[in-house]
Amino acid sequence: MSWERVAAQFPVRLPRGYLGDAMRPDDPRLLTALPDDRELIADAGDIPDPVGEQALSPLPWVVRKHDDRVLLLLTKRCHVYCRYCFRRDHQPGAAEDPSPSEWSAMLRYARGSGAKEVILSGGDPLAISDARLCDAIDSLRPEIPVVRIHTRAPITFPQRITPRLVSELRARAPIWVLVHANHPVELSPPVREALSRLVDAGIPVLNQAVLLRGINDDVDVLAELCEELVRLRVFPYYLHHTDAAPGNAAFRVSLDAGRDLYQRLRARLSGIALPTYVIDPPDGSGKQVIGHGLR
Ligand code: SF4
Repeated sequence: MSWERVAAQFPVRLPRGYLGDAMRPDDPRLLTALPDDRELIADAGDIPDPVGEQALSPLPWVVRKHDDRVLLLLTKRCHVYCRYCFRRDHQPGAAEDPSPSEWSAMLRYARGSGAKEVILSGGDPLAISDARLCDAIDSLRPEIPVVRIHTRAPITFPQRITPRLVSELRARAPIWVLVHANHPVELSPPVREALSRLVDAGIPVLNQAVLLRGINDDVDVLAELCEELVRLRVFPYYLHHTDAAPGNAAFRVSLDAGRDLYQRLRARLSGIALPTYVIDPPDGSGKQVIGHGLR
């Protein structure tokens, strides 16, 4: 295998805080973080812009699919580059972060957008400094009352959730944090501590899992993940059908198999443990519900 060739398409990063004690080659953390030659093979199901964002970007680093929400991509950098991710546009030489003028323009756009919520995403918005993150949040207020931070950092780099960061976020309520765990093995002691720190500070935390072949396309694994999240006071909000990005074919589950799995999950879990199963289609219309959660 050529790590260099794969990494030239999509970077590779393996922080110790995420891998923890992962030693077995079939550990889900390794399987989703290690590069694989199959990423270089084109698949008939590949969709270059799988969730239809490109036509809905009014300016660089901004996506607007809905009137009431604006998505800001604060960086392209992440603590782990998940091999199934649909945001793989890391062209050699291209900027990994907005320029100062792009940063100001995107915040100005969001402030004047009339949206009720802004979603800070990336990349991982917690791959930037506390000061820069707080600057973004403060620049959005008071026009934007609710800010969501979509981050995998509590899972992939739990050391990032420092008491100081939590205190800064608490001071800027209402902030909602949406994390992204796919498998119960990711809920290591440092991850539990990071999630508890957020929840104890009164910051609502929700999880979005991605349905991944060979990782969590198993009712026992998903049930354990969701039940454990509930014990950690994290709401298992969404189960995402895998986006068909070029390079991630090895992780895709068919829609029929996903529906079947979800029905079995539904029969197993209580209302607060059951995520809503969604797909984000390439027409840019936003998430469509395949299976409803809370009941
Ligand atoms: S942390 Fe999020 S944005 Fe970054 S590679 Fe993983 S899924 Fe994609």
